[in-house]
Amino acid sequence: MSSWWLTEDSPPEFAAVEVAEPDVEIVGAGITGISAALTLAAAGKRVRVHDARGVAEGASGRNGGFALRGGAMPYDRAREWLGAERAAEYWRLTEQALDRLAGFAGDALRRTGSLRLAADDEERVEIRAEFEALGEDGFEAEWRTHLVRGRFPAAIFHPDDAAVQPARLVRRLALHAAEAGVGIVERHRVESIEELDAEHVLVATDGYPSGLLGTLEGLIIPTRGQMLATEPIGELLFECPHYGRHGFDYWQQTPDGRILAGGFRDFALDSEFTADEVTTAPIQAVLESFVADLVGRPVEIACRSRLGRRRLLGPRQRARLPVRRPRRAGDARRRASAARHVRPAAAPAARGGGVLDQLRTLRCFTIPKLPPPHRAVTR
Ligand SMILES: Cc1cc2nc3c(=O)[nH]c(=O)nc-3n(C[C@H](O)[C@H](O)[C@H](O)COP(=O)(O)OP(=O)(O)OC[C@H]3O[C@@H](n4cnc5c(N)ncnc54)[C@H](O)[C@@H]3O)c2cc1C
Repeated sequence: MSSWWLTEDSPPEFAAVEVAEPDVEIVGAGITGISAALTLAAAGKRVRVHDARGVAEGASGRNGGFALRGGAMPYDRAREWLGAERAAEYWRLTEQALDRLAGFAGDALRRTGSLRLAADDEERVEIRAEFEALGEDGFEAEWRTHLVRGRFPAAIFHPDDAAVQPARLVRRLALHAAEAGVGIVERHRVESIEELDAEHVLVATDGYPSGLLGTLEGLIIPTRGQMLATEPIGELLFECPHYGRHGFDYWQQTPDGRILAGGFRDFALDSEFTADEVTTAPIQAVLESFVADLVGRPVEIACRSRLGRRRLLGPRQRARLPVRRPRRAGDARRRASAARHVRPAAAPAARGGGVLDQLRTLRCFTIPKLPPPHRAVTR
């Protein structure tokens, strides 16, 4: 199944770069693999990247398109965990990474800011604590109230966050990498580390079962996220990426007026621990009804989108689906905790349970090539 982002942007032609005797080979041409390739090439290393599909055709070209500063947990919690100094250093590092990304991205990234919404009063209290901690440590943030026709009581506006066209962004990074001498081999599935020439191999395959991780295979549990794209709705309702209910639900509006929305995996958690790239009816239905609610009327789902290519369901069809919406943030947290119980590695973070837990579950392993049987695997 393809993604609207991938079909909206045509893939660039990479100049064929022959890399003789690479120092490093990277498996996976998503944002992790391609960013690593760029960084290694800038440090003078000879690099070759392989992908079973094309550049950005994994999660990197199928996501919400949010580029946010910060870590998976709220800033106030990070301060408790790391101490104020290290938490602030961490957050500044992510701000710098965003600036660096913007330098490469061109029109694939818009510095719109983002809105971290509270879905109810309980969540409002939580994000208020984060807002105050950010302010105390000198981070820019604004407090907003009464959003989306009063549906959300409050939000933190993060002014330097960005909306991205993720497929275009990663393809553009790959063009920079190719210009820096990185060899990019698309449509080549690496079956075993032994088939590669380099002394160092970086496996950057995210949640996809790559078969390359030896004893670590199985520790990474793929977790599906579903999104849909609407046809242009004819008015600009959302100027920046929005996310709420602990990050479970998220959406942005593209410059041509489409709404791209995702989340609600907590409605059917048991079926979502899978690498299968298909949409499921219960989550699709709740997403469609959520988007109609946000816009204030039914909206046409984009036919071109294969992220969520489905007919708009009528109210009766929706009513027949076994879907329940948690009304309170506490419910969402209980579901998150149930998820933790079912599959520890896939537990959503308190902030960004929907969007940012993907970053937490993302694992990137460097595997020094040692002669068997002494192969060591380090993280
Ligand atoms: C619905 C959804 C919404 C999301 N929203 C956001 C968001 O708004 N903001 C955000 O920051 N993050 C978001 N994420 C998370 C983000 O997309 C991922 O964390 C990120 O793209 C992971 O990048 P990656 O390069 O590690 O992996 P991927 O982009 O998945 O790349 C891994 C690549 O490895 C390749 N591969 C696997 N096995 C092999 C093999 N054996 N040989 C060769 N190639 C192989 C695959 O083909 C794939 O292209 C979202 C994710 C989803 C699913």
